[in-house]
Order: sequence, then structure tokens, then C-alpha cells
Amino acid sequence: LLNLEGATVRFGGRAVLDAVDLGVTEHEIVCVLGPSGSGKSTLLRAVAGLQPLDAGRVSLDGRDQAGVPAHRRGVGLMFQDHQLFPQRDVGGNVAFGPRMHGESKGERAARVRELLELVGLPGSERRAVASLSGGEQQRVALARALAPRPRLLMLDEPLGQLDRSLRERLVVELRELFGELGTTVLAVTHDQGEAFALADRVVVMRDGRIAQSGTPLEVWQRPADEFVARFLGFDN
Ligand code: ATP
Ligand code: MG
Repeated sequence: LLNLEGATVRFGGRAVLDAVDLGVTEHEIVCVLGPSGSGKSTLLRAVAGLQPLDAGRVSLDGRDQAGVPAHRRGVGLMFQDHQLFPQRDVGGNVAFGPRMHGESKGERAARVRELLELVGLPGSERRAVASLSGGEQQRVALARALAPRPRLLMLDEPLGQLDRSLRERLVVELRELFGELGTTVLAVTHDQGEAFALADRVVVMRDGRIAQSGTPLEVWQRPADEFVARFLGFDN
């Protein structure tokens, strides 16, 4: 579904994304792990079409995406700071997605209802965003990202602002939800527990490069190098 070949992004001469090769197949859930500043968000932005590449290519279904604007790529991106619109209610936020503008009012309302049920917030269309807890807001952001039925859903720290117990519960729910929907997911987190619980495959980034890519078990049992081992919290 998604292929990156030699994807490179430079800021001021420094390669923040350094010749990254990465493939994601249909229905796969891939979690990108790595320290702050290792290029995780830049990777997602490049795939979404929000960050032009300085070299290499991004292709979706085998088609090079160079020059294809973000709203034409059919990918959803939920940002690190989920950026809900505070002046719109919950339903207004979920229905905001670009492709939903083409649907009739009735279709949109039905879709919003279905999505809010899916994320565990049934009937909350008219609630004010500001009245929601942090976890509820992240669920709304997730519903919004799912609204245009993206073939690839990208999540940047989807559960970042939540406490550990809520995160652990939501990760299990998300995994089930993505399985049911058959959604292909590329998610960034710096929480390895979250990545290991959610992912079919884990990608560890370091300084704009992929230090290791493998199943959670592989990465856990055989870290590729000392950096990965340290990052996972092994002492030696
Ligand atoms: P975090 O875990 O903190 O979110 P990250 O892995 O997502 O980190 P990125 O946001 O991809 O990291 O940033 C990687 C590097 O690129 C950082 O050093 C950042 O300062 C730099 N960077 C990102 N965007 C820009 C920009 N627009 N201009 C200059 N430097 C940038
Ligand atoms: Mg980031």
C-alpha cells in the first residue's frame, strides 16, 4: 500500500529524514518508535503530503505521490496535538474531514453517529469540545481522522496526553477497532508498551534513519544494536 524509497527531508543542511526505506502493506499496523527529534512526525507529514521531500519518493498503491496534494492522497493524519476546533461541537469536528463535504447532510449525520459509536462516544454530537476530557477529545480526533475512510490512517502520538491506565485500555480498543475496519495504520509513539500492544510491526528510528524494523517480538528479543537495546530500556 505505502512505499518510501530513500525518502529524505533536510532542514538547514541536516537530514531529519535520511534516505528512509519503508513499506506498509494493506491491513498492517506499524508503530514508529524513537526518541524526540528522531524524525517520526516528519515521516508522517511526508507521507501525508504536508512535507515535501528533498530526495527519494513516497508511493501509494505503486503511484508516486510527488506533486499530489495532501487532500488527494486518501490518507488520514491525526496530529500530535489533535487540533480540534474549539468553536465547533463534537459532531462539527468529526464531519469536518475534506471528503465529507461531498456527502449529503443526512449521509454525513449518519456517518458521524456511526463514528462516535465506534470510538465510544455515542450521542455526543452536540456536546461542546471544551466540555470533554482529554481522552474524550482524542477519541473525537480519532473519529474525525476516520471520517473520510482513509485507506491509510496515520496517528501521531494518538494517546499522548492521556494517563497510563486510560492509554492501556484505549490501545486494546484501537487494535480491535482497526482489525474490524481493516484499517492500515502507521502510528507514532514514544511509548514502547503502546507500540508493542498495538503493532504488527515496530519501526525504531534514530536520527532520521530506521535503526530496526521487525515484529514486536523480534525487536524485543533481538534488538539490532546497542541504541535499540538502550532505547528499549535494557541496561547492557
Ligand atoms: P517528537 O517525539 O518530539 O515529536 P519527532 O521524532 O516527531 O520528535 P520531528 O518532529 O520529526 O521529530 O523532528 C525531527 C527534527 O527535525 C527535530 O530536530 C526538529 O527540530 C526538526 N524539524 C522539524 N520540523 C522542522 C522545520 N519545519 N524546520 C526546521 N527544523 C525542523
Ligand atoms: Mg513528533
